[in-house]
Amino acid sequence: MTNSVLAVAELKAGRVAGVSAQVASAARVLADSLGGSASAVVTGTPGTAAQAGAEVLAECGVERVLVLESEALGPGRADAHSAAVADHVAGGGYRAVIFPATATGKDLAPRVAAKLKRPLLTDATALEAADGEIVATRPVFAGKALAKVRAVGAPALISIRPNVFAEARAPGAAKVEVVDAGLLAGDQSGYRVQGFEAAEGAALDVSEAAVVVSGGRGLKGPENWGLLEDLRDALGDAAALGASRAVVDAGWRPHAEQVGQTGKTVTPKLYFALGISGAIQHLAGMRTSGVVVAVNRDPDAPIFGVADYGIVGDVFEVAPALAEAVRRLRGEP
Ligand code: FAD
Repeated sequence: MTNSVLAVAELKAGRVAGVSAQVASAARVLADSLGGSASAVVTGTPGTAAQAGAEVLAECGVERVLVLESEALGPGRADAHSAAVADHVAGGGYRAVIFPATATGKDLAPRVAAKLKRPLLTDATALEAADGEIVATRPVFAGKALAKVRAVGAPALISIRPNVFAEARAPGAAKVEVVDAGLLAGDQSGYRVQGFEAAEGAALDVSEAAVVVSGGRGLKGPENWGLLEDLRDALGDAAALGASRAVVDAGWRPHAEQVGQTGKTVTPKLYFALGISGAIQHLAGMRTSGVVVAVNRDPDAPIFGVADYGIVGDVFEVAPALAEAVRRLRGEP
């Protein structure tokens, strides 16, 4: 066993997804603490290496970027991807392997763990190596408590929560190496992927936005979302809409916008919580945001406990005033 750490990157529409840079950066940081090397692996169909933009992984400081290619490694084929990753890990002598805890990663990582007969530490929000031991921090009880879990044996398989680990840009000289994954093409699992349909909604996903404007039941109804859209538009292209589960359950907003324990985890630079009470399950998805601005007419609303700026007031008055102030600051009419 060496002290090397492997980052398992993810493809989205054939390109290395943004979260992969976070996984590669986390692998780099962990490898540094262990005194080892970091590499990254991408799995996909032939031609992936040429089109996926895997160089971005090298820029996160990994020393080696491997692209395992096979006709069997099409999108949605977690059976084949997990076989390719497990084969590679089994022969790689890695100390740790890091996956993203995204929807795709949640499909992949447990399959790899089962194939390797190794435990999987899921949804880590921090990783450290002390005296050669790897310790992962995992939020439990919807973020109310943090468990520190020590990985015993090697390789330690760990999935990390998206948008929590910082993306490091370190100039790297790693070349992208293409390797034949050696898998047979065709139907290995008894299921077939028919195709993919993009979810309806905004072009910018709430989990990738630098600014999030979230609304809750305090908005009273879907017809009032124009207030939030106006604030989002004032804040510019980096802003996206978010929502509490209460409004998603009520059918006011699509599930793709839900922030929280059963929605998405977001880590924008700026998070607006408008008419949101701040239930623990909502906080679980946004408490790692940079600056939190909360607007609520109840001064005792729990959201104020995590807010950097709290405005006790009516969202129907405060949201338009915020949009106007932002436009003024940006020099717009
Ligand atoms: P409410 O709790 O009803 O709060 C509305 C707020 O608006 C109140 O604080 C009120 O003072 C304020 N308000 C009302 N009128 C105005 C006004 N005119 N101006 C300003 N403020 C006003 N929730 C999530 O968000 N995400 C999750 O992923 C999630 N997962 C869950 C998982 C489980 C297993 C469970 C049990 C619950 C989950 N929930 C989740 C639900 C969560 O517990 C809350 O019920 C939900 O977050 C409440 O949404 P809300 O804040 O919009 O509504």
